[in-house]
Amino acid sequence: MCTDCGCGTNKVTIDGRHHHAHDPHIGDSRKVRIEIDILAKNNEYAASNRTFFAKRGILALNLVSSPGSGKTSLLTRTVDDLKSTISVAVIEGDQQTANDAERIRATGVSAVQINTGKGCHLDAHMVGHALEKRAPQTNSILFIENVGNLVCPAEFDLGEAHKVAILSVTEGEDKPIKYPDMFHAADVMLLNKIDLLPYLEFDVDQCIAYAKRVNPNIEIIQVSAAKGDGLKKWYAWIDAHRSIVAKRDKKEG
Ligand code: MG
Repeated sequence: MCTDCGCGTNKVTIDGRHHHAHDPHIGDSRKVRIEIDILAKNNEYAASNRTFFAKRGILALNLVSSPGSGKTSLLTRTVDDLKSTISVAVIEGDQQTANDAERIRATGVSAVQINTGKGCHLDAHMVGHALEKRAPQTNSILFIENVGNLVCPAEFDLGEAHKVAILSVTEGEDKPIKYPDMFHAADVMLLNKIDLLPYLEFDVDQCIAYAKRVNPNIEIIQVSAAKGDGLKKWYAWIDAHRSIVAKRDKKEG
């Protein structure tokens, strides 16, 4: 918010100089009010999704990343490896196409595709509808693959237990400090495609230091969805958080 001149508009910075994000069609105070209303409404839907998950002992994970981080490949491998021991369901978010849901369904696991059109993130209302369409089983894991975007999905709670941020070593190691809201909101970061490290100039230690700078509590697991490195640690993380949900469910029930 602009405090420089007290005009109350959103502030953008271009080459270090501040500008005001004026929309000629909407008055500034009205625009801010609409944004607050949208987030408040979303939080109500998120709370209702969270109750839905808690009652059924479902661990819901919200997977967020840039496009091309290997989210869907990682998810396909994960559901394929876990499906024999635990019930798994997937909600896929993309602007267009059902390609990712089809990749999940090829493993035999159920997937609901949400297409957001021009929308750059999933919201809790969309997820609520997907749950109505096909409810995950009791004591299952629900993976929600968000639209590839490190900005807007940070603001929209879907009712998940944890946000899982995926960053691949083919991206810049400074992404955590470029998009701090997302890495602050995530409880775990999966550093993917580590099998490619010999071919890249990616500084793993620097990347981890950046992630810890914006979120000292973030857990970091280095993985390769393609080659399988680190996946045991990822599955152990899921298992540990699943038992937390199950215990809480037992106590409440
Ligand atoms: Mg995808």
